Amino acid sequence: MINNKQITSVIRKKQNGNVPSPKKEHRMPSYTRTWIEIDKAAYIHNLKFLQQIFQDTEIAAVVKGNAYGHGIEQIVPIAQNNGIKYFTVFSLDEACRAFSVMNKTTKLIIMGYIPNDSYDWVIKNEIEFFVYEPGDLADAIKASKLQKKPALVHLELETGMNRTGLDEHNLKKALKLINENKKNVHIAGVCTHFAGAESIANHVRIKRQIINYNRQLLQVKKEGYQPDKLHMACSAAAISYPRTRKDLIRVGILQYGFWPSFETRIAYMQKYKHTVDPLRRVLSWKSRVMHVKTVEAGEFISYGTAFFASEKKKIAVVPVGYADGFNRSLSNNGRVLIHGKIAQVIGTINMNMLIADITPIKNVKPGDEVVLIGKQKNNTINVSSFSEFTQQVNYELLTRLPDSIPRIIKE
Ligand SMILES: *Cc1c(COP(=O)(O)O)cnc(C)c1O
Repeated sequence: MINNKQITSVIRKKQNGNVPSPKKEHRMPSYTRTWIEIDKAAYIHNLKFLQQIFQDTEIAAVVKGNAYGHGIEQIVPIAQNNGIKYFTVFSLDEACRAFSVMNKTTKLIIMGYIPNDSYDWVIKNEIEFFVYEPGDLADAIKASKLQKKPALVHLELETGMNRTGLDEHNLKKALKLINENKKNVHIAGVCTHFAGAESIANHVRIKRQIINYNRQLLQVKKEGYQPDKLHMACSAAAISYPRTRKDLIRVGILQYGFWPSFETRIAYMQKYKHTVDPLRRVLSWKSRVMHVKTVEAGEFISYGTAFFASEKKKIAVVPVGYADGFNRSLSNNGRVLIHGKIAQVIGTINMNMLIADITPIKNVKPGDEVVLIGKQKNNTINVSSFSEFTQQVNYELLTRLPDSIPRIIKE
């Protein structure tokens, strides 16, 4: 059984692992060879924009996947200081991290995995959670009796995604359990998740899911329950299907300045008659030049024969490699920014290093800032251009940025 001591140790380890924010921009602790900067003003700008267009409903900030790579411990405090009252995570381990930086009045919902012996901790700390399996609900009820506190459950309905979720048969079972244990369960929500609201290709399926949701919700209401929050929409649904907003929307990707898909952006622009992108990117990924040298014409650079110098080259070695999430498929293919200019990545990406061609860039020296994602002077490396090279979607690239890279808040 996971106990409070173990959880406290997870939290403590995480807190010790955090690098304190530097007072001045770019004044990084010298041991950091690569870091991620969080633009606080840009994040707050996005929240304000979302609060304005979704003013008819409550926003739950989705911070799973280490807040889409932005850092749970960094994002949660900023969000809760700017009007966010609900957070959602995927699993217990992420819940521990969010909980360690949350106010007492803020609500936290686990949307996915909870080991069955951990409901004691979850219920004791009044953390809400999705129920998609009557057996889990039975375990939660046991824990509730032990803790003398009700389990705060969101009944997740299977409406057509065919992933997690209670089908009609299991919903009946769950309601029976709740009827028998009224004091131990509080229905904090009834919810579902759409199977691809970001694409018009799934339109018919989404519509069917809404119908299924409403039918099953009736079953809950017939038993006399009034759930606190009805919710179904992710970012894409909240934009493209306004009637799915209900009482609460679970917004992930939009907070961080990205559209779920190009189609969703078009839907927004048509609806609101906006032509400029109202969202701002929050994350930048940076490093420094570690070594500079000249390579004569006729030589190969880095491992093997992937890059042949047909002319004399000046190169910069950067201490970031595939171990840091700089994908190997960017060998001979990626780009970085140095002195505000685009430098081509040449040769294979190594475990801890990459090599950039700085032949046309003057006076590069060790210690100079390198931008892997983000802006430097007039040039930008977008996550989207980055992910096109590596065939990843934005969501995947962001969440694969390793937890071990320090996240620094730029005030
Ligand atoms: C990830 C997730 C969301 C948020 O999705 P976005 O497209 O990032 O807004 C909402 N609900 C559930 C159940 C999720 O897993």
